[in-house]
Amino acid sequence: MTFDWNAHRFSGGVLALDLANTVIFREAPDRSQDRFADPAEVPRFAIAAANFRQGEWGDIQFLSPLSQGDIAVLIDVREAINRLFRTAAYGEGLKPESLSAFLRLGSEIVCSIPEEQSLMLPQSSEKARQLSLAAAAFLSGMRLFEPARLERIKICPNCHWLYFDESRNRSRRWCDMRVCGNRAKARRHYSRNGRLAEISHV
Ligand SMILES: [Zn+2]
Repeated sequence: MTFDWNAHRFSGGVLALDLANTVIFREAPDRSQDRFADPAEVPRFAIAAANFRQGEWGDIQFLSPLSQGDIAVLIDVREAINRLFRTAAYGEGLKPESLSAFLRLGSEIVCSIPEEQSLMLPQSSEKARQLSLAAAAFLSGMRLFEPARLERIKICPNCHWLYFDESRNRSRRWCDMRVCGNRAKARRHYSRNGRLAEISHV
């Protein structure tokens, strides 16, 4: 079965969190799954991300890493994003060590970008451009530092994804009501009936 990078997989709401969410069930090591365990999924994610993140990035092509080394850098920035913002989502703020790891990696990524390229954060009216996926994820993460945005980052209790809650009163409880919200409802139903809950992968 081909893995489908559909709208549900972009429930993070911003590129940085979508990238972190390419690992599911992060807080349950025995169930945790890394979608990038197959490197062929990285360029497929990049294409889907450009489509689902038009609101954040405008008309863009995310360049996926080609070499082993560049894939490792993308994974490193993904893990740095996850550590930094997961702690923040638990209400513990931005931790010095995680923040410094994120900034150090970002600095290295930005350093390797050709000088003629502008890294100004995108406007949706902007003309089409290309940017490496790792650089875009770093810049997307940078935009989350503002306290009013930081406090909107939450963790889905079902799949452990990080998501940006844009609802007016910050009342969103799941990464995706139609998937994780419904599964939780089904689980409550089954447990009431004394049956084992069936939790499928997101
Ligand atoms: Zn979820």
